[in-house]
Amino acid sequence: MPNARPILRATLDAVPAYVPGSTAPAGWKLSSNELAHPPLDGVLDAVSTAATQMNRYPDLAAVEVRSSLADRLDVPVRHIAVGAGSSELLQQVMRIAVDPGDEVVYAWRSFESYPIVTGLAGARAVEVPLNEDESHDLPAMADAVSDRTRAVVVCTPNNPTGRALRSSELSDFLARIPSTVLIVLDEAYTEFATGPDRVDGARIYRDHPNLVVLRTFSKAYGLAGLRIGYAIAHESVAEALRKAAVPFGVSSVAQAAAVASLERHDRLIRRVAAVVAERTRVRDTLRSQGWTVPDSAANFVWLRLTDRTSDFTEHCRRVGITVRPYEPDGVRITIGEPAANDALLRAAGTYSYRNR
Ligand code: PMP
Repeated sequence: MPNARPILRATLDAVPAYVPGSTAPAGWKLSSNELAHPPLDGVLDAVSTAATQMNRYPDLAAVEVRSSLADRLDVPVRHIAVGAGSSELLQQVMRIAVDPGDEVVYAWRSFESYPIVTGLAGARAVEVPLNEDESHDLPAMADAVSDRTRAVVVCTPNNPTGRALRSSELSDFLARIPSTVLIVLDEAYTEFATGPDRVDGARIYRDHPNLVVLRTFSKAYGLAGLRIGYAIAHESVAEALRKAAVPFGVSSVAQAAAVASLERHDRLIRRVAAVVAERTRVRDTLRSQGWTVPDSAANFVWLRLTDRTSDFTEHCRRVGITVRPYEPDGVRITIGEPAANDALLRAAGTYSYRNR
């Protein structure tokens, strides 16, 4: 029977596919929250040295990366797990904690992978609407936890709205979640978050054996194309994550680039400061043009455009700028190099509608 098809899991039908930010044929790509800078000093050399060993498998335990991270973050090496981007670690989290029929609680709108990994696990998504100011409604998220909840995902700064939680409100929330429920703190954009009450998962996790922090080298470190991220958690969770990993899933080249990047922390700080300065400029200019723009603690800004989402996206595309539409809610715009931001501001300034 040449046309016969294998039986696949029925739950797959309901799982949305991940749609990446598209690339403009020419012009500015402000749709995937990538860093606009070239690799930090020393990273290309480290990558080419590592590439000479490509006939060998990478270090399964990623000892060098984990040791460098442990030094930088002041956490034990055994509390760190690495993965092929924090996307892979998010899947591992589901693999270690969630069975079919369980529930996963997260805010919505947030990172589009959450419904995907929840659906792939055969679990039920409990989506808690954001507050009007685009922040997580933490009390409502705590209320949504039931006997079937196995994981709660908190994204700060939140993708795509950019809003960050204060560490005091997160502490109150953590105190309300049963210690048997795994809390996932997605800090993909944490390097761009500034301010005295900022959340620092690498500190907070110490008092919470049920907390796992996910971070990535894809954003501030500018290594999105190499696929490497890491998790910080107490030993039982970190060990389970390592067990659930695809063997040798993180390449030697990615590991070498991460280690070299961590050595250039001084430069990273300067880059982040440049992105933050541009973010402030973009936000303030958009506001002076009459737009409503929530404060962002990440490398992007959010315009809640509702039924104008696709129209504004198309307006930008016509002038060579790719932004990321999230129908039917709004548009996320990555902070790029100053010339890209200038082009975006010109496009926004000539658009007739304002989201007041
Ligand atoms: N978490 C959030 C909130 C993100 O926005 C992203 C990337 N878009 C990721 C995780 C995954 O990033 P990566 O797999 O590149 O580490």
